[in-house]
Amino acid sequence: MSINKKILLCLAHMSGNEQRFIDEAFAGNWVVPLGPNVDAFEHSLEDFLCDNTPSPLRVAAVSSGTAAIHLGLILLGVGKGDEVICQSFTFSASANPIVYQGATPVFVDSEAETWNMDPVLLDHAIADRVAKTGRKPRAIVAVHLYGMPARMDDILAVAAKWDIPVLEDAAEALGSTYHGRKCGTLGTFGTLSFNGNKMITTSGGGALVCPDEETRRRAVFFATQAREDRPYYWHEHIGHNYRLSNISAGIGLGQMTVLEEHIAHHRSLAALYAELLADIDGIDYHGNPSPDVDSNFWLSTITINPEITGITPDELRLHFASLNVETRLLWKPLHTQPVFGNCPSYVNGVSDSLFDRGLCLPSGPWVSPDDVRMIVSEMRSCLRK
Ligand SMILES: *Cc1c(COP(=O)(O)O)cnc(C)c1O
Repeated sequence: MSINKKILLCLAHMSGNEQRFIDEAFAGNWVVPLGPNVDAFEHSLEDFLCDNTPSPLRVAAVSSGTAAIHLGLILLGVGKGDEVICQSFTFSASANPIVYQGATPVFVDSEAETWNMDPVLLDHAIADRVAKTGRKPRAIVAVHLYGMPARMDDILAVAAKWDIPVLEDAAEALGSTYHGRKCGTLGTFGTLSFNGNKMITTSGGGALVCPDEETRRRAVFFATQAREDRPYYWHEHIGHNYRLSNISAGIGLGQMTVLEEHIAHHRSLAALYAELLADIDGIDYHGNPSPDVDSNFWLSTITINPEITGITPDELRLHFASLNVETRLLWKPLHTQPVFGNCPSYVNGVSDSLFDRGLCLPSGPWVSPDDVRMIVSEMRSCLRK
């Protein structure tokens, strides 16, 4: 078969409204990391996220999702010598900021249903860290991988039992809902990413979702070099240069006009994949585990049983690459990464097995239902007859 255009996993898609906000920024000479677009983008995110939260939350727009995680950890008091629990099955950006703070990640494996942090193993890991070190971990980084909400009630219950705050890495989960509430609003802090491959983009950017205005003010303080309020430069803390530019925020404002459309598109592709794959033996679509959680299906993902299908995920990936279709193996668990080799980890085999069996499928705004049909029928033709 011949395929001319390259089908990508997920790539930025402009609404056409972005340019107007960028032009306004230039017209007002707001070509700096603050300004009307930044304020409006933050308010727009607050409106979107807080439609069903018990109290209003405040958002700080920053230069990346990684910066947002870093700021969240700073505000939670994570410092040298601390341990911070982190989901192992995730992108390295969930854990890197722990190390920036001189702390040590402690990795906890996933449960098989959501692919996110296993609350039972989390409880065990905390008890074991306390027994071994005499100290509690300072924070917990929980992730909603591929947009699928983690079991937050259970994770928050364990966190409350030990009195440890939770930072929710919702970089991939903008628009996902858990029991009617948006992911990113459930922990003490939430973080979002607007990188070029995420649900919406600012070309590069992120946001920290804060519990109140005072905390948001502290986040912005650390994101702007920790300048104390004096008429001259005066510093009592180490700061960072993490604010979002007013130009990037203009792109973000344009993207907010199509956020709901993007989410609906990802979900409709997911439903189509699930329907078309349902009768294929040895391939399982990773769908919502229950009706009260709804992934944004940032990426549609499957697991493949090579003993039944006769093909491994990587063989399938190479086959699709030859057809100009981008697929990708799942995240390689952080407890297996050389750079984190010395970190304590609590594993149950789930994420290792997912890495061996899983594949991400094209899911973004440029992917059409016909692309999905082609991809599934191509998959069928590769499998053992
Ligand atoms: C993308 C991503 C991040 C980092 O976001 P950036 O904006 O790229 O810095 C963090 N965590 C997860 C799970 C991500 O997918």
